[in-house]
Amino acid sequence: MVNVIGGGLAGTEAAYQLVKRGISVKLFEMRPKNNTPAHTTENLAELVCSNSLGSKELASAQGLLKEELKMMGSLLIPLAEKAQVPAGGALAVDREEFSLLVTEALEKEPLLEIIREEVSEIPQGPTIIATGPLTSDTLATSLAEFLGDEYLHFYDAAAPIVTKDSLDESNGFWASRYGKGSGEYFNAPLNKEEYEIFYEALTSAESANKHAFEEKAFFEGCMPIEEIARRGFDTLRFGPLKPVGLIDSKTGKEPYAVVQLRQDDREGRLYNLVGFQTSLKWGEQKRVFSLIPALKEAEFVRLGVMHRNTFINAPRSLLPTFQVKKRGDLFLAGQLTGVEGYVESIASGLLAGVNLSRLQQSKELIVLPETTLLGALPRYITSASTENFQPMNANFGLLPLPQEKIRPKAKRKEFYANRSLRDLGEFIGEKELLQN
Ligand SMILES: Cc1cc2nc3c(=O)[nH]c(=O)nc-3n(C[C@H](O)[C@H](O)[C@H](O)COP(=O)(O)OP(=O)(O)OC[C@H]3O[C@@H](n4cnc5c(N)ncnc54)[C@H](O)[C@@H]3O)c2cc1C
Repeated sequence: MVNVIGGGLAGTEAAYQLVKRGISVKLFEMRPKNNTPAHTTENLAELVCSNSLGSKELASAQGLLKEELKMMGSLLIPLAEKAQVPAGGALAVDREEFSLLVTEALEKEPLLEIIREEVSEIPQGPTIIATGPLTSDTLATSLAEFLGDEYLHFYDAAAPIVTKDSLDESNGFWASRYGKGSGEYFNAPLNKEEYEIFYEALTSAESANKHAFEEKAFFEGCMPIEEIARRGFDTLRFGPLKPVGLIDSKTGKEPYAVVQLRQDDREGRLYNLVGFQTSLKWGEQKRVFSLIPALKEAEFVRLGVMHRNTFINAPRSLLPTFQVKKRGDLFLAGQLTGVEGYVESIASGLLAGVNLSRLQQSKELIVLPETTLLGALPRYITSASTENFQPMNANFGLLPLPQEKIRPKAKRKEFYANRSLRDLGEFIGEKELLQN
């Protein structure tokens, strides 16, 4: 018997993978007795916000991840397809129907017991914790104590991330402030006129709606860039866009303002915009940030978000098998691990469930090939920089580049999808992953 805590997207997928392999599961869900600030029903696998699980296109990261999950025998993705509503190229669902389908499917499982209780401490024995971004305070405290205080982050802002490939390097320069380090930062300068245009657009752009509880986090947490900007025309030039100590190698001068981009993954394919945490609407972020000359063609793999989030410092505490380093029979899954998004949470639940069942059956634990998103995402979250670790969604920037450049971009995306499905198919066969 094993415990799964949290009947959200990750916990339900994990529980299903376990019972399917003959392992008895106690699934703990605190709703409806205790609610979170965002959930509104007592159903398992409730979607708290958008009803979209992203693109269906195979040549998109969201589409490919869903296909990989289906190949791995996911419960939730086929049920989402069953509950789908028309939404063009996206898999959008009737959220009530979807969560009811998942609840009913799990209630039928003879090896599964659903216990409607809050778990306030990490239990003994084999366990998956998948309590999500809104983990109850008691359990969050218990986790913080176990992992060490600094290992649990309460986080409310993220800055956008772009691919290095898409930076216009002719409009920027590589340097570190005051020449410290070896010029690891990409600097995107703005002259006075460009800064004025950017400033105007930033301060007049539209913010995303926030849940009431997020307002609090918003004021207590780090300040969004648009809020800093509203304090005065020059505030950004003394804050995140300060040019001091940065000499543009092309002009030999300090620019009027500079946006710095910092490497975000070990391989150096992704760069984040330093200090650009924001609560602007996603479309607005693309529009406004593309006004920075070196970012005019930037490909955004993650846009800034602001909401309460509980996640661990995965590169410090977690293995790519989703085991906690300090305790081999304790697994984490879902948004708590630093993956970002509905489908990513389902993916981590599936992998944690498969691995805990393998542990119970004394089988070797698995990490999927790095050419698949199911393999690349856990590798990323467990090997990213431990300093200022931020959650990550599925994107092609996580996958190894093709040996030779493939253009146009559409062809490259097709290549990623084909390579992933081929490698995943081979891996599933080799490790007999679909057998109990
Ligand atoms: C406000 C908000 C909006 C979001 N919007 C989107 C979006 O539009 N699109 C997107 O892709 N992602 C979104 N996310 C991010 C994320 O993908 C979802 O939160 C996703 O549901 C995470 O899956 P999960 O399984 O980790 O957590 P959840 O689906 O939240 O599941 C966790 C479950 O654990 C239960 N629980 C918590 N503590 C305990 C405890 N101590 N004992 C027992 N049960 C407990 C909760 O009641 C919940 O049912 C959003 C997140 C938030 C907070």
